[in-house]
Amino acid sequence: MVCFGVGLYLHKHDQPALGWAFSILFGLIVFGVLEHSMYALRHVKCLACDGKTIIIKNADKSQWLAVCDHCQITWDLQTGTGGE
Ligand SMILES: [Zn+2]
Repeated sequence: MVCFGVGLYLHKHDQPALGWAFSILFGLIVFGVLEHSMYALRHVKCLACDGKTIIIKNADKSQWLAVCDHCQITWDLQTGTGGE
């Protein structure tokens, strides 16, 4: 948010190039945070073996499940409750 604020400040003070630079920087930071959270959501470690899981969505109950091939266990991620 600081970057965005500085960007707006520079826009208003005849520094459009710097303003754009900070605005783009802000956009990249937001994108990075979103990307990271998406990555974290899609790469859930198995609670039993610490291995990779496959994330699937249970269409009926509208819930996200993590399936571990190694343990043959399905974890309920409980992120889909009340959504969609
Ligand atoms: Zn496992």
